[in-house]
Amino acid sequence: MTIYAGAIVDTPGDPFSGDPGGALRQDEALLVRDGVIAARGALAALRAADPGEPVTRLDGGLLVPGFVDAHVHYPQIRAIGGLGLPLLGWLEQYALPEEGRLADRAYARAVAAEFLDGLVAAGTTSALVFGSHFAPAMEELFAAAAQRDLNITSGLVLSDRKLPPGLLHSPEAALADSADLILRWHDRGRLRYAVTPRFSLSASDEMLDACAQLLGKGVWFTSHINENLAEIATVAGLFPGSRHYLDTYGRHELVTPRSVFAHNVHPGDAELALLAEHGASVAHCPTSNSALGSGLFPLRRHVEHGVRVALGSDVGAGAGLFLPKEALQAYFMQQLLGPAGLRLTPVHLLYLATRAGARALGLDDRVGDFAVGKEFDAVWLRPGDGSTLAVNLRHARDTTDALARIFTLATPADVAGVWVRGVRAGSAACPAPR
Ligand SMILES: [Zn+2]
Repeated sequence: MTIYAGAIVDTPGDPFSGDPGGALRQDEALLVRDGVIAARGALAALRAADPGEPVTRLDGGLLVPGFVDAHVHYPQIRAIGGLGLPLLGWLEQYALPEEGRLADRAYARAVAAEFLDGLVAAGTTSALVFGSHFAPAMEELFAAAAQRDLNITSGLVLSDRKLPPGLLHSPEAALADSADLILRWHDRGRLRYAVTPRFSLSASDEMLDACAQLLGKGVWFTSHINENLAEIATVAGLFPGSRHYLDTYGRHELVTPRSVFAHNVHPGDAELALLAEHGASVAHCPTSNSALGSGLFPLRRHVEHGVRVALGSDVGAGAGLFLPKEALQAYFMQQLLGPAGLRLTPVHLLYLATRAGARALGLDDRVGDFAVGKEFDAVWLRPGDGSTLAVNLRHARDTTDALARIFTLATPADVAGVWVRGVRAGSAACPAPR
């Protein structure tokens, strides 16, 4: 057992329903036993209840729950920074050529390690990972994630048209390869499987039918939707009988409480209503939407329809793996929307980077906040002395103000420690570097 003492901050409430300030909680100390939070409260009270327990002091900065990334592409970690193109051109010139290289298993192994170590270094301990088009590359990702004990949900990316031939599967091969991966990795430790058609633009009705069969195995589902106007027009042309983009998935019964759709920058009201009705979630990827010029995410309309929204870094079209940067960009975009935007507070930003993702991924009974009984996944954000963030934290009025300073100024260099189910990353028990 260990007692962690410091400024421990989380959002057990939901700032999107009711007073945002009421969603925030701060405590002095957590007692962690076998990787699980056993008590929280005042340090003196925890020490009195368990005298003799070692105390790990985390002085300065804030300790927050491990970040939860609801949409991030593992094969693109070496392809960040392709600026200057909209979605379909960027895919063709930057993303897909790199994704093709993961056909080489040794290459995929190196990429998987770089990707997962990058997540941990950025404070992300849970993620819905958009996988590779190659089953051996998925084996490498799952094995490396198991070694690091990360909460990773991922799956083989499926397409049967409109991509380079090396990235395509027949629906029959998609079924066989996915079923094998599900058998080997789903619900093994902290790993889960997600059926992952790239987007309906590159997946025929036959492929989406295969996805529906796989979903019957109790796994998760993720794909892209409504990211870019040219993409949406292409999908409409490919599915002349569908009512809207979401219907291309919905008519195969792929819109469920276990479904997470990335982007949704340009949804119709009927789509938002359907997402809410089926309990599906949306992963908002603000730096990616900005870099590709995809548009300004209508967060207010999602919230008003009752659609769950989480944050994704979407790397490589995004600006790195650090979720506080995504939260800040989400804030910027809502500001730019003027009256149509939803004014986000620092409490919203912490919620979006942690508990919102845990809820979207169905992990909120295990991670996303520091409630007693949850697994201790945590990030200690503590800037170096003399940095502009350190100066600002010294002048913060209260915890909410400190969060505002952190979300505005922090970078991965301010991640002073990461715990994965009670084990500090970079320690002898956990191989991820820190
Ligand atoms: Zn994506």
